[in-house]
Amino acid sequence: MGDDRVIEFLGYKWTLDQYDDRLAARAYVSKFFYYKLSAFEKRILIEAGPVVSTTDHWKAKRIWQFMEERDGHVDDDAVLQAYGPDRSKILSLLFDRLVNEHLREINRCIKCNRVLRTWSAVRCPWCKSSWRKQDVQHPLANPRPELDSRGIPLL
Ligand SMILES: [Zn+2]
Repeated sequence: MGDDRVIEFLGYKWTLDQYDDRLAARAYVSKFFYYKLSAFEKRILIEAGPVVSTTDHWKAKRIWQFMEERDGHVDDDAVLQAYGPDRSKILSLLFDRLVNEHLREINRCIKCNRVLRTWSAVRCPWCKSSWRKQDVQHPLANPRPELDSRGIPLL
């Protein structure tokens, strides 16, 4: 029998049954390793649409200026292409790369191995376990989690 209580997790609202380890890991690395992305990668993560130099919209123009100054120049054509028919594939590859690069740095529950909300969390929103920080090693030292065929951590 499932638990139908909704759990808020890094932008998702899931019940325990809806937990998706791949999406949870993506959300975690997107939040905590965003700074590691290239200027181009940061630019194409904007869901509202392509932010390019030729935009007419004043708000998009300000975002474009801000991102050019903060991250450096990104080619308009490359950005527009990332919003084309291959967008979901491009984003999927980006997230998979980010997750793979930081697999050992994702903070996971010591009991159920699901992804936690922050790198310093000591309470699991999923199985409700809690522990003391001194009981566990830093996530960097955690072994790569064992996953089943659907990519869900083995308990
Ligand atoms: Zn747990």
